[in-house]
Amino acid sequence: MRVTRSNVLRGLFFALTFVCLPALARTEPTLVGRAVWAHPRDAGSTETSVRALVDRLAKAHVNTVVMEVKNSSGVFWPSRRFPEAVVPEYREFDFPAVLIREAHARGIAVHAWFFDFAEGANSYVARTHPEWLALSPDGKPTTAEILRGQPYRMAWMCPARRPGYTDQWLIPLIREFAERYDVDAIHHDYVRYPGDVAPDTYCFCDYCLTHLPLYASYFSKARPDDPLTSPFDRPHLEAHWERSPKVLPPNWVQYSREMKSRLLLEGSFFPGGNRDLDYFLYEYRVHHVAEFARQVFEAIRQVKPRIEVSAAVFKNPVQSGRFIGQDWRRFSPWVQYLMPMDYRGHFAGTFETHLDLLAETIQQQKIWARDFMHLWIGIASYQLYDEEREPLAQLRALLTRNAPAAELQPALEKAGRLKLFAPELHAAISAHARTPGDAGDLATRLGAFLADPPVGYYPPEKLTATLERVRAQGVEGIVVFSTSGLTSAKLWDMLGAFFGR
Ligand SMILES: [Zn+2]
Repeated sequence: MRVTRSNVLRGLFFALTFVCLPALARTEPTLVGRAVWAHPRDAGSTETSVRALVDRLAKAHVNTVVMEVKNSSGVFWPSRRFPEAVVPEYREFDFPAVLIREAHARGIAVHAWFFDFAEGANSYVARTHPEWLALSPDGKPTTAEILRGQPYRMAWMCPARRPGYTDQWLIPLIREFAERYDVDAIHHDYVRYPGDVAPDTYCFCDYCLTHLPLYASYFSKARPDDPLTSPFDRPHLEAHWERSPKVLPPNWVQYSREMKSRLLLEGSFFPGGNRDLDYFLYEYRVHHVAEFARQVFEAIRQVKPRIEVSAAVFKNPVQSGRFIGQDWRRFSPWVQYLMPMDYRGHFAGTFETHLDLLAETIQQQKIWARDFMHLWIGIASYQLYDEEREPLAQLRALLTRNAPAAELQPALEKAGRLKLFAPELHAAISAHARTPGDAGDLATRLGAFLADPPVGYYPPEKLTATLERVRAQGVEGIVVFSTSGLTSAKLWDMLGAFFGR
């Protein structure tokens, strides 16, 4: 081969390719989806504070941020259509505009996170439209419930009612956001019925009491007075289901709300048959949650077709369909990014047990989610550290109420890591347990330690082990909950090291 200028250049090119490409390959992150859920409180309400958060995300190799823009207290952009619902700090500051501009400048996609059917007990819409609230058989909203001895603070809205919260409030809000901002995706959360209080007892509002029987064909609108009987010529009672007998009793209109609710929840399709009407109630709820997902997708398509949709969902759609109306397998035409919340708190057992259950669950989810374009697994960083956090929180509560030494001693024994990371404080509490005095100062010091623990108190190995276990299942992406948890447990460097690989 003649030594020409072009041959030399070509040789140089190949040499550079062989030298540089492996180096480049080593530095480029390989996980496709590297996401975090984020809160406005972590972004603040100034250009400088938002830029600081985005810098932190970029440094940690995050390429997608799922940012709350509507939660149970209101919305976080200066909405023109619903100005009363805007959280005061964000009335003047156009938070999403700044976030999207700064994130896009660093190659980070933004998903706008909406709390769908969960409102705050005192939120603007819950106060001004009580007729849109989901109701129990005794006609009360979720805010009348008691959970673990405390009044329940979330006002759940009826997903089914039209006109109602879904079509008059929530979808118009999402549409306004999509019209106004250059966002990459809309993110659904609380896209379901309530689950932590009384999962069976919503919704029995007037609309649902009328429309569930229509949806399940419990009577004929065309022939309401016709007896519609047909011969029972088969040996099994339920074998006669298809000719649609009238399920509602003739005096249905005289039934009270409680009686109607009880029939719809506990009644039988055939008098004397199986108590199977609950099946149709659960099916009605699943239908309306999926129908909402469809309507949001269509609303977005009308205003800005390139915007996609993501959703935070519970880990098992077969079970969440039954208990909270969220059979997310039905979302697949209208949600592109499925993000199951495989948080430690959703599994029983120790940290190690949770890792095994997590791996098993992800393998099931890959099958349930096969109609979705993307499956990104959600994990909660904060919940991984119950063993490190709980003993200190318990100890602090004991010190706050000046508990006797007999109670302090066993709590102190469980707080072994405190001795490693704050020996002086641990010694002071031990001394106090031996010679009781005023514990107020110790409670304050322990509170300060919890609020700002040294790096390593929450062992980064636990987050690494969880992320590695998820990655080993062959997933496309991981979403970490959340910016606050990562900051308070001092885990950003660890996350950056993992995402950077
Ligand atoms: Zn309802």
